[in-house]
Formats: sequence, structure tokens, C-alpha cells
Amino acid sequence: MEPSRARTISTRTANMNNRSEKRQGMYQVVMDQFEHAADIMGLDPGVRKILGKTNSEIVVHFPVKLDDGSIEVFTGYRVQHNNALGPYKGGLRYHQTVDLDSARALAIWMTWKTALAGLPYGGGKGGVEINPKLYSAGELERITRRFTYALGDNIGPDLDIPAPDVNTNPQIMAWIADTYSSTKSPATRFINLHVVTGKPLGAGGLEGRDRATGFGVVATLKAWSKRTGKPLAGMRYIVQGFGNVGYWTSHFLAKEGAVLIAVQDASSTIHNVKGIDPEDLYNHVEANNRSIAGYTKAGTMPPSEFFGLPCDIVVPAALGNQITAANAGSIKAHVLAEGANGPTDTEGEAILRQNGVDIIPDILCNSGGVIGSYYEWLQNKRSEIWKIDEVLEMIHDKIDTAFEKVVSTSEEFKVNWRDAAYIVALRRLEKTYKERGIFP
Ligand code: GLU
Repeated sequence: MEPSRARTISTRTANMNNRSEKRQGMYQVVMDQFEHAADIMGLDPGVRKILGKTNSEIVVHFPVKLDDGSIEVFTGYRVQHNNALGPYKGGLRYHQTVDLDSARALAIWMTWKTALAGLPYGGGKGGVEINPKLYSAGELERITRRFTYALGDNIGPDLDIPAPDVNTNPQIMAWIADTYSSTKSPATRFINLHVVTGKPLGAGGLEGRDRATGFGVVATLKAWSKRTGKPLAGMRYIVQGFGNVGYWTSHFLAKEGAVLIAVQDASSTIHNVKGIDPEDLYNHVEANNRSIAGYTKAGTMPPSEFFGLPCDIVVPAALGNQITAANAGSIKAHVLAEGANGPTDTEGEAILRQNGVDIIPDILCNSGGVIGSYYEWLQNKRSEIWKIDEVLEMIHDKIDTAFEKVVSTSEEFKVNWRDAAYIVALRRLEKTYKERGIFP
């Protein structure tokens, strides 16, 4: 079979295989969480109506010439949920499960995340419905540039600022920044640099943005450890997903003296009770098309048994709806640190709570990424260049502040940390709407 045909078929197969994942609906989960928190705090009914909808939803279909000369038409999304606090902010993911429903859910989570972190941003999210592993670097560049062109003035440094997410990286951000500014007046080229964050250092990136999400995940675990009196040193942890978030979380947890004992990604589930060296695994993944399969210093195990492994910390750092009624009951850890967005569905969460598993909610746990993005954006706006130590300290500071607010709000309302995190975010949005009013 000729290569292009093989790819077309495998693309379709991948899409079909993921239909059920799509239908599980992260949108339903985020709306359940929102409605529940709004009830508890008695959110203003008008504000509730506004936040219950997305402001705009952009769907673009754009053609790209592939390496073999054929043309494929791709579908991209950008959902802008709310911008009461500032420009829309949030990642772009390249994945076969990207659709309008998931972009909506992820955009809404960004609104809560930025509000909770005290950033001057709203929430947006988007991406392209593709499996990027099936395309060459040249094709990915053309897909990215053409997607950026199709989005046109729907994004902008003071309007909507994308960033990396699942399967997107600094290189892709550099292509977006370059395409966006190249299609504007040359006089504004460097003013537009901050149309995206998560750029490589040479293209206006921020030292430390690469590790910001994982660094933040571990900052929340350190705060959890301090509160509960359970030291991280010696704890065993398992990580789902070994992309940017999974790797950096593992790196920083290992520095705290915790031991990585299992990792799962789309290609394999690996396990070693004696410990897996995150740096060694990283090198393997880099050399193996970004997957853990074939790593010889750990055994493999059935994927369905992953979350039930005896361990202390579980870090989902991949896709949404991974912890559900089907596996939540098997989790024996003390704490679930949600590095991914929406990894736990409503039923899964109820089971974890019943079993006394602490949950560090995604909008707090993985907020280090967007906090890092905020500093990159500021650095670009001010034409400054900051050092990594100061950046990481600022991120740590913001995470600690948000964590303390969540804890004090959970005490005030006698609710769990997820509800408390929502209440902190919703209160801030409610205050803004009340003070500013509604145009006209
Ligand atoms: N994609 C990341 C998230 O889900 C980062 C977003 C950003 O930096 O804007 O939080």
C-alpha cells in the first residue's frame, strides 16, 4: 500500500477508535462542577447565565499540501469562553479527540484557572483534530501556519493568546508567532511577539516556561504535604502521560526524594517497584518518537491495572476522563495531583472522595503553566529578559497564594478543594461583573 493511503486509513481508524472517548464529554464534567459550586456559593443568577455559555466558538477548515503532493483539509477550533478579567488565554492541542465539545470544556477550565491564579486573563482553548505522529515536521509546520492564518484576527496579543498543550510545543508556538506577525504590518512585527506563549528562548520565550506546569504540580504537592504532615521523600508515585507535564512533574518529584514506580502513555504501561529514573526514561522517549514503549529498565503491565498500583501519589498528566467509575475504586494513593485538565469525571471523583483520596484539583494543580505564560507575556510586553530562578520563584509564590486561598475557602464553606477552587474563581468573576456592569 502506498504511504499516503496507509496514513489516510490509519488517521480514520484513530478517529473512529476515539469516538467513545469524545462522547464521554468533558463538557458535561466541567458544567457539573460549575453548577455545583455556583449552587454552594449562591452565584449571582445573571453572572451564572453568562459563565454558563462560551463567548465565541471558531471552527476553521483549512487545506494543506502534504509531502506527497496531495491535499488534505484539516479542522481546527478556538473556543473563547470568557474575557471579563483579561484576554482569552489557553493552549492549543493537536490530537485526534479535539472537537468543539472538548475545546469548550477546556476553554471553560482556563477561565477558572486564570481567575483562581489571580491573572489578568480569561479562558480559551482550541486545537486541530489530528494525530501529529502521522505527519512529518514539514507537514506539521504547514498545518500550524495555515491554521494560524485561518484563525486570522481571532487571536492577538491583547485579544486571545494561545500556548502549548497536548502534543504542541515551543517549535509550534514559534511558527504561530512568526506566521501571525508575518501576516501583519512589518512595523508591528515585534509588538506581536506575545500573541503566543511557550515559545522557544530564541523566539521570545521565557526561561523556565518549559518546566512551569510540572514545577507547579510539585509546588501544590509540597503545599499538600506540609498541610497533611505527610513527607514527599520516599513516597512512590505513578504518572500517566510522559509529555511535558508528566516528565517535568517526575523530574521535580524525584528531586523531593519521591520514587517513580510506573508510567503509562498511549503506547505502553511500564512498572518497576525499585524505581524508574525520569531522566533516563526521558532520553528513551526523546529517541523513540515520544513514546515509552520499548523501555527495557521496567516491565510492562496491563493498562487497566495502572491506577490500582500500590503507591502514594497518582499524577494523571495526559487526557481528560481517565479516572472514572471503572477504575477510581482501585486507587489506593493518598493523593491525586491533577496535572492534566479534567482527568477525573464526576462519578470517579465521588468514589475517590468516599475512599478518602485527597484531590488537588486541575485548575490549581496544573496552573503553573499558565502562570509561567503570564510572565512570558509580561517579559515580551516590557522587552525584558528574566532569569530562571526569579521566574520559578514567582510561579511558586502565585501557586502558594492560590493554594492558601483554596484551603481557607474550603474551611469557610466546609467544602472540598475542588469546590473551594471554583468558589475563589467565581467570586473574582462575580465581583468584576458587579463592579463593571453589562454593556450597554
Ligand atoms: N495548556 C496549558 C493549560 O492547560 C497552558 C495554557 C497557557 O499557558 O496559556 O493550562
